[in-house]
Amino acid sequence: MHRYSFAFLLLLLLPFVLSTGLISCGKSLSVPPNEPGVSLELAEFRKSLLSDIQYTLYFNIPERREMPIPATVSIKFTLNNEGYDIPLDFRESADKLRSLTVNGTSAEIIYENEHILLPAGMLHPGENQVDIELIAGESSLNRNPDYLFTLFVPDRARTAFPLFDQPDLKAVYKLTLEIPSEWEAVSNAALSDVIQEDSTKILEFRPSDRFSSYLFSFVAGRFEKVTRTVNGVEMTMLHRESDPEKVERNLDDIFELHAASLEWLEEYTAIEHPFQKFDFALIPAFPYGGMEHVGAIQYRAGSLFLDEDPSDSRLLSRASLIAHETAHMWFGNLVTMKWFNDVWTKEVYANFLAAKIMNPEFPDINHELNFLLRHHPSAYSVDRTEGANPIRQNLANLNEAGQMYGPIIYNKAPIMMRQLELLLGDDLFREGIREYLSSYAFENATWPDLIRILDQKTSTDLAAWSDVWVNTPGRPHFSIVRNGSASLLQTDPAGQRSRFWPQQFSIVELSPSGTQTRLVTSQGAATELDQALGNNRIYNANGYGYGLFPASPDNLEAWLEFGDTAKGSELINLYENMLEGVVDPADYYGRLLNIIRSESNQLLLNRALSYLGTIYWNLMSKEERESAAPGLEEMLWNLMMQQPDASRKRIFFDSYRNVAVTENGVQRLYDVWAGNTKIEGLSLSDNDLTGIAAILAVKSHPRAEDILRIQLDNIQDSDRKRRFEFLQPALSADPSVRDQFFESLKNPENREIESWVISSLNYLHHPLRTDHSEKYILPSLELLEEIQVTGDIFFPSRWLDATLSNHSSDNAVETVRTFLNERPGYNEQLRMKILQSADMLFRSNTILAP
Ligand SMILES: [Zn+2]
Repeated sequence: MHRYSFAFLLLLLLPFVLSTGLISCGKSLSVPPNEPGVSLELAEFRKSLLSDIQYTLYFNIPERREMPIPATVSIKFTLNNEGYDIPLDFRESADKLRSLTVNGTSAEIIYENEHILLPAGMLHPGENQVDIELIAGESSLNRNPDYLFTLFVPDRARTAFPLFDQPDLKAVYKLTLEIPSEWEAVSNAALSDVIQEDSTKILEFRPSDRFSSYLFSFVAGRFEKVTRTVNGVEMTMLHRESDPEKVERNLDDIFELHAASLEWLEEYTAIEHPFQKFDFALIPAFPYGGMEHVGAIQYRAGSLFLDEDPSDSRLLSRASLIAHETAHMWFGNLVTMKWFNDVWTKEVYANFLAAKIMNPEFPDINHELNFLLRHHPSAYSVDRTEGANPIRQNLANLNEAGQMYGPIIYNKAPIMMRQLELLLGDDLFREGIREYLSSYAFENATWPDLIRILDQKTSTDLAAWSDVWVNTPGRPHFSIVRNGSASLLQTDPAGQRSRFWPQQFSIVELSPSGTQTRLVTSQGAATELDQALGNNRIYNANGYGYGLFPASPDNLEAWLEFGDTAKGSELINLYENMLEGVVDPADYYGRLLNIIRSESNQLLLNRALSYLGTIYWNLMSKEERESAAPGLEEMLWNLMMQQPDASRKRIFFDSYRNVAVTENGVQRLYDVWAGNTKIEGLSLSDNDLTGIAAILAVKSHPRAEDILRIQLDNIQDSDRKRRFEFLQPALSADPSVRDQFFESLKNPENREIESWVISSLNYLHHPLRTDHSEKYILPSLELLEEIQVTGDIFFPSRWLDATLSNHSSDNAVETVRTFLNERPGYNEQLRMKILQSADMLFRSNTILAP
């Protein structure tokens, strides 16, 4: 018989001992495989082992952006078990790591698959400390010539420095920044000390509140600083705007909107603003509207600093953005999703509550109409497509978390939430939200956690209710059958007979005595309506419902009889039916022309003009468009001249700028740009003139080259000048220059400022240039996987939208279909994004087919 040595026996046993974690706690833990990103298994593994995390961070940021950023990271954490190697996340080249010290002892750096392994043998139960010296990674630092801003959502903090980058390991951050003396900086916590050196200064921030890693942030650079106290709250704003009048014009509103949002939220949630301070930074080329970093919100400057005479829509968008980001302090920052599959829970509250917060700020606005126009068109734009996704999705690894974002979570989810509020009643709903916030404050929660709280407040089975609305994609179709009496049928276009979206909405109908409204609850296949159904009927007249509703262009003949929300609903219903092939685009176009002549509500006017523009550019053949253009241009110009107030003039002017294509029409635009024609009552900003110059180039004005050059010279603001410089080749009349520009986008460095890239793609793929840009479709699709890795959260879909939505040719359709067919194993989420963005392409191709 062979005798095993004791040591050999121990070796045999060791993997068993390690993998079951028997050493100290008796609870078995499965060790996740070491793979790139942050897998759900890794997150669960670390969550069960780690607590009390604190990061002490130091970054030395030189003025010149090509110089590296030396950094140190100290991580303290409590380990409640032993025997496991603990991976830290760091997605960068390993050469950036200079040294690693674990509990005071220098350690070899073991770097594999975007992780630094902290060896089990150097860790112990209780408090541990890890110290790392490195050169910071830069891919999410957004370094510009004289400023930078970090944007780490959803899992990008790990591109800058090593940490445990998952939302349910909340931590305290203690930051020190060394920056050039004349720079300013803002971060999540207040400053505790400033030490002036020769050419630099050292900013020490206080320990932050406890929050998730995606919310850690700082902004530093040449910024102006404005501090104000409103309603007892001190707020500091950083900005780079060079036009003092523009700043002055917007300042009061910006501060007051924040203060009003804070006050409203404290009242609604019964929880005071939960963090130590509340500041914000306005950044010129921020990739989207805003990001809710604790104590240091970031905004795209242009979303808050509005030009003169903004339309109602622009004012509402700004207020809603501010309310949205402020709401995140409670929803997302105080109570955070456990995993990014529930990122939608923070977005749905933020949008749903933003809509409520704005009501008192805009007493003259019809908020039901505003909610409808801000949510339904956008939600339908995804839910009607072949690539529709459910609100709640699975997410295996945080490196795909960016794919969770889109109109379904921002726009469909709030519609669902309104139905939920309707079901429970305002008071119970609010009570449930308060309970949810206080139960999970400074912790993490899931959607089922909220549903459990709300479920106790109603007899309806909310789990089943939520299952259809939240866990499945798509929208119901509604129709009427008359069989003696009339019934409203709800059907599932995907053919599942048992799937219904329980919901309430109203139907308004015209009778000889005026309009009559009836409330309908549809929760099964058929809902009996009483017999008296008039001829002119608008479904979903109150805007609470969701689906494809019957619509009739004839209703527009009785336009003035209906209320504003019903009108908005019918505009949307007709548009959706047009895309389904039920309503004729030419018919709808003609009736929209009548509406824009008479409609006094700015929100409805904007919507009608936007649909008019879509039909004009996407659903008319070139010949049809050319024949419609002279009449449309003339009409818009005259309507603009007749408007008494500047913001309405602007709406018509923007629309005119969009549609003008005839020689005379384009020349008139040129005269406005050149100052030969003054439109009384309309002042044109730098942004307006830049936009006109760009569109004159796309519309092949004979002086295009001069126009672009002169406009570039005229721009004073350095950030806006850099942007317009970037756009120049995309606007060029020379196709080979545009080709070279497109080619340059294959280099990720040239895609760093995403909002510029999207603007340039919109010009490259302008409907007048689609013949030439069709060849960019395939390489753009081929880049998508890389863009998903290198770009911020909204970039992949915006890249696709800008690339696909203006095309309609058979070739373009073929390119997309073939691309997907040839890649059966292609990333499912990206496949869906492509199908979402290609929806307009597919539909316009079908509608335009001879
Ligand atoms: Zn948000």
